Amino acid sequence: MSDPLSDLLPGNPIQPVKLDLTDNFRFRCHKGIACFNKCCESIDIALTPYDILSLKKRLGLTSREFLHLHTVPFEMDAHGVPGVKLKTRDDTTACQFLTPEGCGVYEDRPTACRYYALGLMSMRKKDSPTDENMYFVVKEPHCLGHLESQVQTVAEYRQSQGVDRYDELNREWRQVVLKKRSCGPTIGKPSDRSLQLFFLASYDLDGFRDFILNPSFRQVYDVPVEELERLSLDDIALMQFGFRFLKQVLFGERTIPTQPDALETRTRRRQEINRQKQAPGATDTKS
Ligand code: SF4
Ligand code: SF4
Repeated sequence: MSDPLSDLLPGNPIQPVKLDLTDNFRFRCHKGIACFNKCCESIDIALTPYDILSLKKRLGLTSREFLHLHTVPFEMDAHGVPGVKLKTRDDTTACQFLTPEGCGVYEDRPTACRYYALGLMSMRKKDSPTDENMYFVVKEPHCLGHLESQVQTVAEYRQSQGVDRYDELNREWRQVVLKKRSCGPTIGKPSDRSLQLFFLASYDLDGFRDFILNPSFRQVYDVPVEELERLSLDDIALMQFGFRFLKQVLFGERTIPTQPDALETRTRRRQEINRQKQAPGATDTKS
């Protein structure tokens, strides 16, 4: 299954024929079909933050455990913005969650699996406040679903696969990714620290929870303790807060109030970290 969310994977060779939400396409996937499970035997699937949240919850894992056991890292663009892909089963290209009966995590399957065999390409023109979405049908030779007689609109298919909820919850994150890409080299190479924060807020939700509950977070951000505790108990609210945090850190979109002396505090902390790194006998530790 190639990743149908090609906006996450520049260079995807699939050439789209543009479809709108009201356009029809012919496709049906069902258990009795001769190619059942074929698409999951060879996968290339990038995960979104809400995919990880849903899967780690289903599997009873922390985000770190999930990332370690079930994902591999990749770079989403030439600047090294980190992404994670679903890991395949040892020495194969098959999905780890594939069973003879079908998908073993079906109710919580990732966004890309829900879209397939429909693809999405999102674009944001420079300085445009909105994204442009276009849909297209992904036709891979092994997939016989295109020969079935069922016809539906793109909107009907999205609804039947539960795509709307996933897209809505990932919307702000996708905006960050698209904006990052559309800014391109104009804002220069992102710092290692901003890439680490991108990874933390996007994929390691439990790590991000620890990060905002650490007292040093409030030395920079003026968010009441009660608000941070409320966020820490609600995974979805925490994830959405993380997207706002990323927009602020990466693009300066200030929606989270900062302390009056935030800049000085941050500079002081950086200097302290650098001093520690340069001290004789210092080991390489994460800040
Ligand atoms: S998560 Fe499920 S639907 Fe997606 S590739 Fe794996 S087995 Fe297939
Ligand atoms: S019809 Fe296509 S999507 Fe469905 S099982 Fe077959 S290969 Fe996979």
